[in-house]
This record gives sequence, structure tokens and C-alpha cells, in this order.
Amino acid sequence: MGGDGVTPDELFLGSDAGNAAYREAMESATETVLESVVDGENPYSGQPPDVLAEQFDDPVIPETGVGLDETIEAVGEHVLAHSVDPSNGRCMAHLQCPPMIPGLAAEALLTAANQSLDSFDQAPAATVLEGRVVDALCDLFDLPSDGDGVFTGGGTESNFQALLLARDRCCSQRFDHDVQADGLPANADSLRVLCSDAAHFTAKQAAHHLGLGENAVVTVATDDEGRIDVTALDATLAELRARDREPFALVGTAGTTDFGSIDPLSALADRAGDHDLWFHVDAAYGGALAVTDHRALLDGIERADSVAVDFHKLFFQPISCGALLLRDGDEFGWMSRNAAYLNPAGHDDAGIPNLVAKSVRTTRRFDALKPYVAFRSLGREGIAALVESTLELADGAATLLDDVDDFERLHEPTLNTLVFRYRPHDGMDDRAVSRLNAAIRHDLLHDGRAVVARTEVDGVTSLKFTLLDPTATLDDVAATLDVLRDRGASVVAERGAVV
Ligand SMILES: *Cc1c(COP(=O)(O)O)cnc(C)c1O
Repeated sequence: MGGDGVTPDELFLGSDAGNAAYREAMESATETVLESVVDGENPYSGQPPDVLAEQFDDPVIPETGVGLDETIEAVGEHVLAHSVDPSNGRCMAHLQCPPMIPGLAAEALLTAANQSLDSFDQAPAATVLEGRVVDALCDLFDLPSDGDGVFTGGGTESNFQALLLARDRCCSQRFDHDVQADGLPANADSLRVLCSDAAHFTAKQAAHHLGLGENAVVTVATDDEGRIDVTALDATLAELRARDREPFALVGTAGTTDFGSIDPLSALADRAGDHDLWFHVDAAYGGALAVTDHRALLDGIERADSVAVDFHKLFFQPISCGALLLRDGDEFGWMSRNAAYLNPAGHDDAGIPNLVAKSVRTTRRFDALKPYVAFRSLGREGIAALVESTLELADGAATLLDDVDDFERLHEPTLNTLVFRYRPHDGMDDRAVSRLNAAIRHDLLHDGRAVVARTEVDGVTSLKFTLLDPTATLDDVAATLDVLRDRGASVVAERGAVV
């Protein structure tokens, strides 16, 4: 397909020419993926940002196009070849999963169909199917039959929307104040959200976006295993009450970002009941346990007012794909609105579901198709086996770390993260260890043989594996430890005692 002379027919589906062009373009895209992304020996090429930038000197908006073939080829060479490869066994930094093939196929289907979930007339079957998937998810988490939900772009959006509904319900019920119409009430600065100090930063971000400010989030200490300390929570609640603050939401985390810890959700549900709090469970990461034999770790989630779950993490679906589930679908009412052209008020459209009022978005992707295709094709057991294999790998990796002298492991794995430090000899103090691990991790970006995350534990820079790849093996973990050792040795050699 050349730059000039390409006809509209060849750019859109529908005609013979367009359909043939689609097939050709998708084949070419597929070949490019197979050659450029998954072909590499290493998970990253190791190129720094300035070298990457030099590749894109050509004008982004040329006067005359260069054609699709050449553009796809260049994307393979300049973008995909320098992309981090989550399907490589030594890519183990973040909650960035290898996307499973059923999900990639679903992604191709849903983008071609280009349904928009805001109104039924833009997405008839998709609207109905999203509802079916949401119902199945409510069942999966044992939410009651009037549960409901909506697909979101991920945990950030789900947490935001949950706290928005919680804020508006509280203001209505406690202060008889309509936030949707009148904005924040005069006493808004007394509103408080509670979560642990290991909760995801998006709780604070949401408080900011909701006009409450980050200081409205009160964090409660965690125990040695990274779970919220319930005694400390009780003390915090009592103190807030004594100071006439208005706690309205309690966020429990099922799968913290560093240690993968799961808060005691039943105990939190009790507190939420006692104190009239909206109980939100951020299960963006750990929600996948619901399909496994480890379901009991989530006990209490069925008592949540809302649950955030991500499919683009431990459910192995391509980005982006998350859901917000509500125990009572009527709570969507706090954000309902009517647009004359999407879901007009009145009875003309009785019985026609228009989902626009359930989402903070308008135009919305049919992401629900991805978990649908994955669940249908593999079944619960098939997905469970994948999740379980990553948990087993984390257990194996923990043993591997224990068996060597130069690494120290900082916690027991709950999910599949492992936080640890390189400490080549016992005498090295924490400040030196901190600098050494920071330097290793920095050098690793330019190495590319492994992709590992960094975090801080008690002020000391540490390293982290997030083992989301069901095809990764203990050999991959061992090879990654060798790379870390190798980088560590170079740092020590270059900087010597300065470390
Ligand atoms: C990933 C994550 C988030 C943020 O979700 P996105 O999908 O990145 O928007 C929030 N909370 C937890 C616990 C997470 O793991």
C-alpha cells in the first residue's frame, strides 16, 4: 500500500479492496511482532533514551505519507525491537504481564468491531455481553445478586470511581448534600478515607481528584507481613471520631504492590459495618486468587461495597482491562446522568441498556471481550493453573534466594512478588547496600539481560521480582540472579570502597 494513490476503499473495511488490505496489514503486523518483539534473546535492548530518540528524527507528520508497509517495518525495527518484552522469562519487574494469546486474539476482534460501550446503539451485543461478564465476576467474588459493575481502564480508574461513589453516598446520607449538583459540602475538609500505609498510591491520587486532597487519606501501619494492623486501625478510627472527623471509606488491599500482601478483609468488613464506612477492596493484583485454590485468602471480599480487579495483571490480558464491581448496582445512581443523544430521560428507550451512566468515561472500549474469550476458552481451571504456576515459581525463587549467601530475602511470598537485596558480604552496612542495589538496578537498564524493579523497604533500596510469566522457570530466576551479581561486581569494581 503506497503513500500516494491509496484510495479510501483500501483504508476501511467493507469493500473487497479494504478487506484484502486488512488481511495483508494484519499479517504484516503479526509477522513484525514475531520478528521484533519475541525474537530477542534479552527482555530489553538496553538502549538509553537519547539513542532511542535519535531513531525518530523523521517527521511524525510528513507532508506525503510513506505507506503502511514501510511504516510497519520501521515500527518493528525502531519501536518493537526496543520494547521491553514481558513474555521473556527474565522480564520480572512490574505487574506487567505477558499477554495471553486468547487475549491478543480478542483484542484484534474488539478493535476491528470498534464498539463503544456508552450506548446500546453503538454496541448492542457488547453491551449485553459486558453485563454477562460483570455478573459472572460478581459471582466469582460471591457478591449478592443485585451486584453490578463496569469495565474500566484499570485499578486507577476503578479506585477513583469507587471513592467517588463512596463520597457522594456519604454526603447525601450524612449531610443531606447532593455533590453531583452542588459540589463539595462546606464541611468537606473533615472527610477521611482510611487505608494501610502499603495501599496503592491511587487512593491518595483519587482523594486529590475528588477535591478532598491527599491529606484526607489517613494511612494505618502495617504488620511484619505488610497487612493492615487492625488494632492500629481501631485506634485511628477512635481518634478520628474524637476529633470530629468524618471517615467515610475504608480501602482494603488484596495484593499490595511490593509484598503482595492481603489485608484481613473480614476484619475490615467488620470495621466498615461498625463505623458506616464504604468498604472498597483494591484487588487489582490479588483478585485473580478468586479462581484458584487460594480463594480463602480473599475471605471477606464478598462483604465489600466495591471491588477493583485488573485483568491486565494476574489474568494475563493485554493492557488495558479492569473492572469495578459494586455489591449494590443501585449505587451507580450517585453518578447517573442523562444525555439527550445517548440515554435520554423518559420512556422512549425503556428496556434498552445504555451503560454511559455507569462509567466515568463516555466512549469506552469493549475490553470485557478479553477476559470473556480467556475464560470461555480456558475455563476457570485453565486460568487457575496459570496463576498457580506463577505462585509456585515465587516459592521456588524464595528458596533459591535463601540458598545463596549474597542475597537476602525480605518477606515470605503471598502472591508472586519477591523483594530482596544484594548484600555480597555480611559486613556491608545498609547505606552501602542501598547505594549498591540502586546502582545495580540503574545499570541493568543499560544491560537488558534482565528487567527487575526497585523499591524501598525501611529506607533501604531493594530489588523486586514480580513473577507474572507462567512460562518462566527457576532457571530464568537463577540466570537473573547471575546478571544481578555480575552487575554488582562491576559496580564494586568501578566504585570500590565508595559503595
Ligand atoms: C496496579 C494497581 C493499581 C493501579 O491500577 P492500574 O491498572 O495500573 O490503573 C491500583 N492498586 C493496586 C493494588 C494495583 O496493583
